[in-house]
Amino acid sequence: MKITRRGFLGSAVAAPIVAGGVVPAGSAAGATARRGTARDIIVAAGNGLAYLDRAFELLSRGGDTLDAAIEVVRGPEDDPEDDSVGLGGLPNEEGVVELDACCMHGPTRRAGSVGAVRNIKNVSKVAKAVIEHTGHVMLVGEGAERFAVAMGFPRENLLTERSRKIWMLWKESHSSNDWWGPGMSAPGWQPPRPVPAARQWDLHVERLYARALELGIEPQFGTSAVRRVLFPPTGTIHCSALNARGDMSGITTTSGLAFKLPGRCGDSPVIGAGCFTDQDVGSAGATGSGEENIKVAGAHTIVENMRHGMSPLEAGMDALKRIARTYNNDMARLKFVDMTYYVLRNDGAYAGVSLWEGYSPGEHHQIAVHDGTRARAEDTVTLFKGWSEEFPPTPSLPPEPAWPGA
Ligand code: ASP
Repeated sequence: MKITRRGFLGSAVAAPIVAGGVVPAGSAAGATARRGTARDIIVAAGNGLAYLDRAFELLSRGGDTLDAAIEVVRGPEDDPEDDSVGLGGLPNEEGVVELDACCMHGPTRRAGSVGAVRNIKNVSKVAKAVIEHTGHVMLVGEGAERFAVAMGFPRENLLTERSRKIWMLWKESHSSNDWWGPGMSAPGWQPPRPVPAARQWDLHVERLYARALELGIEPQFGTSAVRRVLFPPTGTIHCSALNARGDMSGITTTSGLAFKLPGRCGDSPVIGAGCFTDQDVGSAGATGSGEENIKVAGAHTIVENMRHGMSPLEAGMDALKRIARTYNNDMARLKFVDMTYYVLRNDGAYAGVSLWEGYSPGEHHQIAVHDGTRARAEDTVTLFKGWSEEFPPTPSLPPEPAWPGA
């Protein structure tokens, strides 16, 4: 795998695609059809694709819509290889995994949420337990963890060895003026020497590669590990489910932004931002730049837009335009924002919309869908042409060093 800086097409090609102008083939995204009869359908973020079959089976056997949605999102939560959700999620800046989740159960019109929860893997289920076992809507931090334990959830170490080593690499990469990283007694230590400015960034990246190996990060994962250190990733899963009776539920779960400040909650546990469901209308959820989504109450905005007659596609595009408006449509800032919405109306019409096409050419944000035919992933419709740029901004990456196994 090659490390390349995520591309960003300049302003000449960053013109908005008019809402409704581009609709993936075979998608109901552009539908403005009158609301018809409800049907069994599940939509999710692209990382839910592998879990749609089992969730759809549950749904078609008459299972509850929230249980079906949890059947999808617990997949990445349980998967130690997915470092953006649940077990194995990349930790906060202190090396502690903190998880966020929220859900809405349409039939009973209830909501549950947990934020900054440590040591509990399936926070999606904890959010559901908040609905069923408390008179509250949102629990955070230590209180949320203690509640989960009281509900029978096991305390687990969520930090996998790989995620710990990536965090360690990130920690050591900050400065040579602290005590993290090998000291001068280490074999191979070299006294600081002046490096021409043009070489400084290249050297930094090369040192990261070398140090990743020393820390024992698997060579075949080295490229990805260095990328995660240079550009702390986000990653989340949302799922909304509808059944033929018209019941709808939605859920979103995440480990949030890698290396965040302890206690930081993004949009995922915020009902109305990371997820909102009103089965009189529909359901929506979000992945991407949480701080930006909170400011436009994205999921709620989308459902309200549909209530007032917009199609799922129009409703999602409008929310994306509100994010652009937050920055006065300033592309110099918006190129660092990444946002995808997954929208499901109560007649089964759906849309996946993104601010940008993806992170780099060839990678397109996707919505995963199962409506009884088969589980499939469809490219989202984008507001802007091109790819978001990674944050923080950096000089260009040097040519990839020789990397065993890369
Ligand atoms: N929205 C999540 C957060 O801000 C991250 C993501 O979806 O990628 O925590």
